[in-house]
Amino acid sequence: MRADSRTMEQPLFIGSEIYRRSTYGSKHPLAIPRVSTVIDLCRALGWLPPERYRTSPRAKPSALTLFHTPEYIGALQEAERRQQVSEAIRARHALGTISNPVFPEMYRRPATAAGGSMLGAELIAKGGVVYNPGGGTHHGFPDRAGGFCYLNDPALAIRTLLNKGLSRIAYVDIDAHHCDGVEAAFHGSDAVRMISVHEARRWPFTGMLEDNAGGAAFNLPVPRGLNDDEFALILDEMILPAVEAHRPEAIVLQCGADAVAEDPLSRLALSNNVHWRTVAALRSLTPRLLVLGGGGYNPWSVARLWSGVWATLSGHEIPEHLPPEGQSILRTLTWRRAAGRTPPEPWLTSLRDAPRMGLIRDEIRTDVQKLADRM
Ligand SMILES: [Zn+2]
Repeated sequence: MRADSRTMEQPLFIGSEIYRRSTYGSKHPLAIPRVSTVIDLCRALGWLPPERYRTSPRAKPSALTLFHTPEYIGALQEAERRQQVSEAIRARHALGTISNPVFPEMYRRPATAAGGSMLGAELIAKGGVVYNPGGGTHHGFPDRAGGFCYLNDPALAIRTLLNKGLSRIAYVDIDAHHCDGVEAAFHGSDAVRMISVHEARRWPFTGMLEDNAGGAAFNLPVPRGLNDDEFALILDEMILPAVEAHRPEAIVLQCGADAVAEDPLSRLALSNNVHWRTVAALRSLTPRLLVLGGGGYNPWSVARLWSGVWATLSGHEIPEHLPPEGQSILRTLTWRRAAGRTPPEPWLTSLRDAPRMGLIRDEIRTDVQKLADRM
């Protein structure tokens, strides 16, 4: 198969077994399986035949210098080799912290996610759709880790698209956290338009409404309890018009799974219907789409949401009730949090959440209008 030599007619899923056998440590929010469950679930449902799956390459250190400093890449490799860091390296590169711990695959795993996103960018440059759920690490900086992100694969993917000659790219980020690393990468860019919706007053505390990154960004911080109706307004009146007005040749979507109600690291209250609708809407706006993962710290929420993203991209109907092969994969998951002891039945038997409708708060209407006025 030579999907890279012509326009891809069908989307590709980029994955790797490294996500199954590596962990950030038993007490870290990323102790849970995520990409491996999505792969297992999509295969069990018959949605992921071998010809649609690509094993993610690991990016070479030299390729990572498209965004990261050689010094930092060297420090990250050295930390993996030695399985410890000095105080100086910790202070300088934020490696070996509680958020960004030393673990056995701490270079190879993020380099695999980065390699997947860069391959995805190369593939879609000719047209097509690629999904790399292991990507989406939007907090990485050129010379330091941040928020569980050692490298910044979205920035690397966007730079790859620019190097391929594309000149107008839209980056949409619907993770619960602001994409501080990506925003810093393309501050002041005419080519890249960044649109982020994230929880207000939450780490990393960047991405204020007034922050436009030198004209390159639209930031919408949203209040706790954000519901599906509120998100629908944001999608229709802010995200989609901001993307369309940029006339992008390609769209990169960071589809973090931590803005749903059951996520332990945010206080937003969306259902996964919102994410799937965003994926479908963006797909209709572009001949080139790269969809990445991101946050997501409830193993059932992540598996269900990201499997539904693949169904949406690949044209499979999401069943109301999962067949036994699918349910058995969700039943094998464990989680050290209290909710993990007795997961609610819908987490085990369905992919689609019940919609979480509600009133649209005035503050959201006002802020959406402020951003719309800037377009
Ligand atoms: Zn997040």
